[in-house]
Amino acid sequence: MSVVDRLRDALGDAVRTDDAALDAVRSDTWVRSIVAELAGRAAPQPAAVVEPASTAEAAVVARLCREAGVPVIPVGGGSGVVGGVLARPDAVMLSTAALTGIVEVHEEDLLAVVRAGTNGWELEQELQARGLTTGHWPQSIRLSTVGGWVATRASGQFSTAYGSVEDLVLALEAVLPDGRVLRTRRTPRAASGPDLRHLLLGSEGTLGLVTEVTFSLRPLPERRLAQAFSFASFRAGLEAIRRSMAVGHRPPVVRLYDGVEADRHFGAYAPDGHAFLVLVHEGPRGVVEAEVALVADLCRAAGGRTADAAAAEGWLAHRSEPPSARPFLERGVAVDTLEVAATWSVVGDLYDDLLAAVGALPGVVSVSAHSSHSYRSGTNLYLTFAAAPDDGDLAAAYDACWAESMRVTVRHGAGISHHHGIGRVRRPWLAAELGDTGVALLRALKRALDPDDLWNPGVLLPPS
Ligand SMILES: Cc1cc2nc3c(=O)[nH]c(=O)nc-3n(C[C@H](O)[C@H](O)[C@H](O)COP(=O)(O)OP(=O)(O)OC[C@H]3O[C@@H](n4cnc5c(N)ncnc54)[C@H](O)[C@@H]3O)c2cc1C
Repeated sequence: MSVVDRLRDALGDAVRTDDAALDAVRSDTWVRSIVAELAGRAAPQPAAVVEPASTAEAAVVARLCREAGVPVIPVGGGSGVVGGVLARPDAVMLSTAALTGIVEVHEEDLLAVVRAGTNGWELEQELQARGLTTGHWPQSIRLSTVGGWVATRASGQFSTAYGSVEDLVLALEAVLPDGRVLRTRRTPRAASGPDLRHLLLGSEGTLGLVTEVTFSLRPLPERRLAQAFSFASFRAGLEAIRRSMAVGHRPPVVRLYDGVEADRHFGAYAPDGHAFLVLVHEGPRGVVEAEVALVADLCRAAGGRTADAAAAEGWLAHRSEPPSARPFLERGVAVDTLEVAATWSVVGDLYDDLLAAVGALPGVVSVSAHSSHSYRSGTNLYLTFAAAPDDGDLAAAYDACWAESMRVTVRHGAGISHHHGIGRVRRPWLAAELGDTGVALLRALKRALDPDDLWNPGVLLPPS
C-alpha cells in the first residue's frame, strides 16, 4: 500500500491529490522559483498535500511518512522568499491550512494560544477587536501564518519596540519527525536548561511541524504619533538612530531609506538624494509625546531636518501592500530584496561596500537599501537590487547579485540574514555564519530528530 493510501486510510479527506491542491503548494515566492516557472520549469507536483485538522492528525502524518521513508515538506502561507517550500514528486506537503483559529485568549495574563496555520491578518483582526495585539506586523501579514513566522524567525515592521517573533512567543507546541509532541511550558521565563522554543524558531520545517503558538500580547497603544526627518547622508541618519537606541528610546517603527529609496518612496517630502527617516511612536500618551520630542532633538543634533509627518502617515496606510517581483521578471529584469544585520561600527561601511560591489556587477541597473529594525548594538540593512542582463539569463544575474551580497556581508563579519531565513538561497553561506562547529552541531541535532533527512530536505543545512 502506498503512503498516500495509508494516509488516506488514516485521515480521509485531509489527504488531497487533486491538481488544484497540488499546484497551490508547489513553491513559495522565491524569485528563483518564479524564474524557473517563467522558463517553463515550474516545480513538480508533490505526491500529496495533507491538511491535518489537529496535532494528533499531524503526528499520524509524521509517523506514517517516517515508516515509509517519504519526505515531508511543511507549508504555511507560502509567502517565504528564500525557497523554503519547493515540492518534489516523492514528497508529502504537510500543510497547516486546516490547523487554524484562536484556541484561547487570556486577558489577565495577556496571552493568546493560536493554531499554527492561522493567518496573521485574521489573528490581528480578532485580537484588535478585543483591544489587544501581538505587536507582530510583517509586510506579508495577509499572506503568512503564525507557524511560518516561528519557522522563519520572522520580524515585523514594529519590531524595534516590540521585538521579533522570538520575543513574542511565550510557548509553543510542535510535532517532531517521529510523531512525538513537544510542548514548552506557559511561563514568563525559565532557567531550566536550554530554551527548547529555539529548536523550532528558525527551523524552517527541517525539525518538525509547529502546531500551536502561545503569544504574549500587549494592549493596543493609547497614543500613536509619527514624524519624519531628512538627512544629507545615510550615515547621518544611522547615527541619529544609534544615539536614540543607545539612550533607550524605542519607537516601534524606525525606517531609514537611502537617497535612492527616499526618492522612490518619499520624493514629495525629501530633498533630492537625501536619506529619509520615518518614525512611529506608540504607547501611553505622556510617554509617546516625550519620546517624540526627545528623538526629534537627537535627529536634529545628528543633522536631520524635520520633514512633513504626512510621509510617515502615508507609509503607515500602505504598509501591508505586498509588492511582487513577477512583473519585473516577466520584463527581463531580475529583482529581489535581501536583509542582513550588522553592529553600528560596521553597518556604514557594509552599506557602502554592498552598494559598490553589487552596483559594479554586469547588468545591475539599481541597488539601494534601507534600515528597518534597530537595536542598542546595531541595525539591519534591507537591500533591493535590479539587474537587466544583456543575455537574458535572469537566474545567473540573480545568483551573481546574491553571491556578491553574501560575500561582502561575510567579509564584514555581519549577519547573513536578519529575518527572511536561509531556505535554499543562503545555504552555501550558513557555515560562514555559524562556523564549522555550529554547522556540525546543527547536523547532529538534525540526525537525532530526523535521521533519514526526510523533513524539508535541501533547506537550511548546507550539503554535507
Ligand atoms: C511581500 C512580502 C513581504 C514580506 N514581509 C516580511 C516581513 O515584513 N517580515 C518577515 O519576517 N518576513 C517577510 N516576508 C517573508 C515571509 O512572509 C515570512 O518568511 C513568513 O514568516 C513566512 O510564513 P508562511 O506562513 O508564509 O510560511 P511558508 O512560506 O509557507 O514557509 C516558510 C518556511 O517555514 C516552514 N514552515 C511553514 N509553516 C511551518 C510550521 N507550522 N512548522 C514548521 N515549519 C513550517 C516551511 O517549510 C518553509 O521552510 C515577506 C514576504 C513577502 C512575499
